Amino acid sequence: MNWYQLNQKQIERKLHVSTTQGLNKKQVKDRQKQYGLNVVASDKKPSKWFIFLKQFQDFMVFILLGATLIAGLLGEFVDAIAIMIIVFMNACIGFFQEAKAEKALDKLQELSAPMANVLREGEWQQIPSQDVVVGDVIQIESGGRVPADMRIVQTNRLEVEESTLTGEFYPVAKQVEAISGDGLAEQEQQNMAFMGTLVTRGSGIGVVVQTGMNSAIGKIASLMLTTKKQFTPLERRLTELGKVLIIVVIFLTLFVVGIGIYQGHPAYEMFLTGISLAVAVIPEGLPAIVTVALSLGVQRMIRKKAVVRNLSAVETLGCTTIICSDKTGTITENKMTVTDLFVNGKFVTVTGKSADYVGDFYYKKQKITKDFPHLQTILMYGMLCNHAKLMVKKGKYIVHGDPTDGALLIAARKFGIIHTADESFRIIDEIPFDSERKRMSVIVEDEHQRRFLIVKGAPETILPRTNYTLEDGKRKKLESKREIENAIDMMTNKALRTIAIGFRPLQKNEDYSMEFLEKELTFIGLFGMIDPPREGVQQSIEECRQAGIKTIMITGDHAFTAKAIAKQIGLLPEHGKVLEGYELNQLSDSELREVIDDVFVFARLTPAHKLRIVNVLQDLGHVVAMTGDGVNDAPAIKASNIGISMGRSGTDVTREASSLILLDDNFRTIKEAIKEGRNIYANILKFIRYILASNVGEITVMLLAMLAGMPLPLVPVQILWVNLVTDGLPAMALGLDKPQADHMKQPPRNPKEGIFANGLAFKIISRGILIGVVSLIAFLLTYHNDPENLVAARTVAFTTLVLAQLVHVYDCRNDRQLFSIKILDNLFLLFAVISSFFLLLVVIYWAPLQPIFHTTPLYIHDWLLVISLSVLPTLLFYFPKKKN
Ligand code: ADP
Ligand code: MG
Repeated sequence: MNWYQLNQKQIERKLHVSTTQGLNKKQVKDRQKQYGLNVVASDKKPSKWFIFLKQFQDFMVFILLGATLIAGLLGEFVDAIAIMIIVFMNACIGFFQEAKAEKALDKLQELSAPMANVLREGEWQQIPSQDVVVGDVIQIESGGRVPADMRIVQTNRLEVEESTLTGEFYPVAKQVEAISGDGLAEQEQQNMAFMGTLVTRGSGIGVVVQTGMNSAIGKIASLMLTTKKQFTPLERRLTELGKVLIIVVIFLTLFVVGIGIYQGHPAYEMFLTGISLAVAVIPEGLPAIVTVALSLGVQRMIRKKAVVRNLSAVETLGCTTIICSDKTGTITENKMTVTDLFVNGKFVTVTGKSADYVGDFYYKKQKITKDFPHLQTILMYGMLCNHAKLMVKKGKYIVHGDPTDGALLIAARKFGIIHTADESFRIIDEIPFDSERKRMSVIVEDEHQRRFLIVKGAPETILPRTNYTLEDGKRKKLESKREIENAIDMMTNKALRTIAIGFRPLQKNEDYSMEFLEKELTFIGLFGMIDPPREGVQQSIEECRQAGIKTIMITGDHAFTAKAIAKQIGLLPEHGKVLEGYELNQLSDSELREVIDDVFVFARLTPAHKLRIVNVLQDLGHVVAMTGDGVNDAPAIKASNIGISMGRSGTDVTREASSLILLDDNFRTIKEAIKEGRNIYANILKFIRYILASNVGEITVMLLAMLAGMPLPLVPVQILWVNLVTDGLPAMALGLDKPQADHMKQPPRNPKEGIFANGLAFKIISRGILIGVVSLIAFLLTYHNDPENLVAARTVAFTTLVLAQLVHVYDCRNDRQLFSIKILDNLFLLFAVISSFFLLLVVIYWAPLQPIFHTTPLYIHDWLLVISLSVLPTLLFYFPKKKN
C-alpha cells in the first residue's frame, strides 16, 4: 500500500484522525512513545570522556609528561607529582571551558529549531517540528520547510521545491486527489509533501504519514550534509598566531636552556625548566578561551532576544556599518489598525484601538449608520479577500495570520459584520498575497451562483487595472483617476498604509488563469491603516548613528507612508533621499553607487531589489546587516554580511539563510546585538593582551637571569603554577567583562584590521618586558641581601610576577582611565583575582606545599618590596599618558 494511492477518507480512517479536529492529547502521547521524536539523527556527539581526554592530546603536554617521567626516574618524585597534578588541573580547566561552550551551542540550536503549525483537538497551534507525530494535521505555507512526510488533503496553489530529496530545483505543484500506480518516484507523488522540502508558493494542509528516520529523507540521512564546526576568522587567526608563537617560544626556550647550560647550570635542571617554560608560554588555550568568550557572549545575546546562528557572526556584528531594515514589523509594530476609509468618494474615519474590537465610523464628525453607500460592501469584500482569521483566546480576539488582513477583519467587526457571510458566499479560488505582486485575489460565488473576482492590494497595482468605479449604487466608467490618487496621497501623507479594493463580475466559463482576470476592475475604495513605530526604535537609530552605523529603511510600502514614518523616528535626515523601486530600476550600478550614501529610505521595493542594494553597498566597502522575512528575501539575506531573520513572523528559509534571528522581530534587538558583538570583541582583545603580556613577562625574567649569569629565578613547578593560575580564571573572567569604554560611541571596527592593530603588540611586549624586569629586580634585591637563601629570593620573584600580572588584569580592562575602573563591575574578575591571590598565599604559607613549590613565608619588608614593584609597571604606563 502506498499513501499516495489512498484518498482522504481512507487516510483519516487508517490514521484514526479527522482533518478538521486533529489528534487528541492521548493519541499524541501514545504515538510519541511509539515513534519517538521527529528528527533525522545527526552526528553523534563526542562523549564527555572524549572531550576530557582530548585535553591531553596537546603535543607540549606530551613532552611535559615525558619530562615528568624522567624526573621520576631521576628520583625527583616531588617535582614529578607536582607537575602531574598541574597538568591534570590544566586539563580540567580545558574540559570545563569546552563543555561550557558546547552547552551554549546546544541551546542555540534549540532556539533556532523549526516550528510546525498543527491542528490538535480542534485548535491550531505552533509546536517544535520535532514533536510532530504520525497522524498530525499540519498546515504548510510558502517559505516553510515541510516538517514531516505528509499526504496533502487541501491545497491553495501549493508548490514545493524538493531538491533536497530529488535534486530537482523546479517546484512541484501539489494536488489532493489520490494517484493510482505503483512504485512512483517521489517527484511523481504529487499529493505528498516530504520532510525537509521547501514550500515555495501557496499553502496547504496535510496529514503526517511518516516522521523522523522513517521519512523519505530519513532513509537517506547519511547523504545529508553534516554540520561541521566552523571556525571564526578570529579563531583561525589565533590558530595561525599560535603556530608562529610556538616557533618563537621554542627558539627562545632553547636559547634560555643553552645559555643556562653554558653558565654552568645542570643540564637536567635546564631541561625541565625549558619544557615548563615552553608549556607556560605557548598560549595553546587561546583559541579555546576565544570560543568560550564568543559562546558566552552568544548566551548574553539570547537573553536580549538575539540568536546568533554561527559564532563568526558575533565578530562581524561589531563591524557592521549599515543596517538595512524592513519597515513593517521590525521598525513598526506590525499591529495594523484601520483608521480611515475612502469609499463612494468620501473619507470615513474609524475610532477604537485594534485590540478592543469596538469602534465607530464617522463621516464629517457624524456617526454613520448602516446605510452609508458601499461601506458595507467594502468591509465585506475586505473580509472575503482575506487570509487571516480572528480567534478567541481567553475571551479576547487575536488575529491569526497577516496583520494587514487582520486589520480588515477587525474593521468589519467594528461595523457589526461578524461572519464572512460564509453561508451566502463561497470562495472558489485564491491567489495569495506576495510582495512581488503586492496584491491578492479571490474568486467568490454568491448565493445565486454568480461569480466575481475581488482584488485587494497596493493602490498602484490596483489602479492601472481599474476602469470603473462605484458611485451611489451605480457602476460608472472612470473618466479620471485624479480623485482616487488624491485620496491615496492624503492617506499616505498621514503615514497610513493604504490598500485598495476592486472587483469584477465573472462569466461562469471564463478562463480562470489569474493573469487574465485581474483587469477591468471596478474600484470600491481604499483602506488606510496605521502601524505605529515600535517603542525605542527612535533611540536605537540614534544610538546606531553615534556608533557610526547608518540605518536604511526598506519597504514594499508606499513612498509617502515610508517617508512619514522615517521622519517620525528620526531615520530620515534633512538631506536624506527616498528612492522608489522604479527609480532604482533606472539607475545603473555605478549611478546607484554615487547616490546611495544619501538614500535613507527605499520604498516600493520588491525583494529582488534587496540583493542589488546589498551588492552595491558591499562594493563600497560596507559591512551590511540586512533583514528579511519572506521566501524571496533569502538571497539578499545570504549575500549580506549579517543576514537577519525574524523569529516570530519569518519563514524557515530566511531563518536558515540568516546568521542572526530576532526572537522579538524588533529593530532594537539588532542594535543590542551589535553592541554585544563589539563588546565581545573588545573582551577577547582584553584577554589576548593579558595572556600574551603575562607570557612575555615569564620568558623575560628567565631569559634576563640566564643572560646575567644568575641562578634560576623560578623553578619549573613555579612556572607551571603561574601559567595555570593566572592564565586560567582571570582570562576567562575578562571575557565576561562589561563594556568599559563606550563602544557605541566609536566608529565600527574595520573587519580587515588584525588583532594587533592600534598598537596592541607594542602594549603587550613592552608591558610583558616590564613585568619580567620588576620580577627580576625583586629577585636580585632579595638575593643580594641574603645569597644563602635562594628559596626566599625565588619566592619573592614568584610572588612579584604573579601580583604584577593580577594588577595588569585591570589595565587590560581599561588603560585610559585607571582610576575610574569600577572594580565591582566584574565580580567574576574580582573573584578570579582574589582566588588567584589566595592560592598564592596557600602555596607560600601552607607548610606541606612549601617543599613542593620551593617556597618560604615572606616577611613584611618582602611584601613591601613585592607590592611596590608589582604596581610599578601600571604607574609607569599610566602617568606619561596623563601628561599629554
Ligand atoms: P512591507 O512589509 O515592507 O510593508 P509588503 O511587500 O509586505 O511591504 O507590502 C507591500 C504593499 O502591499 C503594502 O504597502 C500594501 O499596500 C500591500 N499589501 C500588504 N499586505 C497585503 C495583503 N495581505 N493583502 C493585500 N495587499 C497587501
Ligand atoms: Mg510585509
